[in-house]
Amino acid sequence: MLLRRSSFFSISPLLLAVPLLLGGCGAPDSPQQLEREPASQITSPDVMSNDHHYFHEVERSHSAEWSYEGQTGPDHWGDLTPQYVLAKNGRRQSPINIGDTQSTQLPPLSFDYHPAKIVLVYNGHTIKETEERGSLLHVGATTFGLKQFHFHSPSEHTVNGEHFDMEVHLVHRSEAGQIAVVGVFIHQGQANLALDAIWNYLPTETNKQLEYESVFNAVSLLPASRQYVAYDGSLTTPPCTEGVKWFVLTNPIELSKAQIEKFRRIISGNNRPVQKLYGRRVLRHAD
Ligand SMILES: [Zn+2]
Repeated sequence: MLLRRSSFFSISPLLLAVPLLLGGCGAPDSPQQLEREPASQITSPDVMSNDHHYFHEVERSHSAEWSYEGQTGPDHWGDLTPQYVLAKNGRRQSPINIGDTQSTQLPPLSFDYHPAKIVLVYNGHTIKETEERGSLLHVGATTFGLKQFHFHSPSEHTVNGEHFDMEVHLVHRSEAGQIAVVGVFIHQGQANLALDAIWNYLPTETNKQLEYESVFNAVSLLPASRQYVAYDGSLTTPPCTEGVKWFVLTNPIELSKAQIEKFRRIISGNNRPVQKLYGRRVLRHAD
C-alpha cells in the first residue's frame, strides 16, 4: 500500500468530548463492537450500553498507544497489550481482500437515513462523525442505528488485491448490541458536494483540533446501487473485536481529486492490512 501513515499520526489522539451523539442504538445480541474507531472497544455488551461516551471513554481507558507504522503499527498491535490479542490471534479479522464470492439469497440493505446533527472529530487516527439520532439501517428483521462514520485512506478492504482511494465506514448498532459496519469505497471522480458540509471543516496542518457540529445526511455517502458483499469480521482498529457484521457495497462513490487530497493532507495511510480469511466465506447479494 501506498500510503503509510504520515507523521500526523504521531499526534496524540485528541478526543474531544462530543456533545452530540448520535445514536443509535443499543444493545446487543452478540458481541461487541464497533468498528474502527480507534476506540472502540468493547468487549462486553455492557460496555456498550453507555452510548454517548462509548467511543471516547473506551478510548481513554483501554487503549495502548497504537499507530499504522513502526513499533506500534499493525504487525505489533496484538502484542501491545493483552486487550489487543485478537489482533494477532483472531480468526475473523477485518479488513479482508474481496476475491471469490458466493452469490446467495441475502436480505436487501434498506437505508432509512435522515439529515441529522453530527459532531465531527479528528481523533489522531481518523476523522469521524458521530450522529445524534435518527438514521437507521434495516437488514431483514434487524434494525440498526447509525452511530458514527469515518474515513480511511486508502481503502481498507481490497477487491482482487486492489485498493480504492478511500473507504468510508458507517458504523451501526442494533438494540441487541450487534455491530454492523457498511463499507463504501471511494474513488476519484466527480466532487461530492454534499460532503462539503464536512470537508469544509477538516482540520489543517496547523490546527488539528477539530470539533465541529453540523447537519448532514449520511445518504450522501451511499452509491445508488445497494448491491453488497457480506462477511463476519472485526473492528479494524485495536482491540480488533470480532462479532462485527460487515456489508461492503459493491459500487463506489466518487470524490473529487481535490477532496481526496484535502483529506490526505491530514490523514494518509490509516488502513490496516488485509487479514486472512481462515475459511470464511464472502457472500454476495445479487440485486
Ligand atoms: Zn473504519
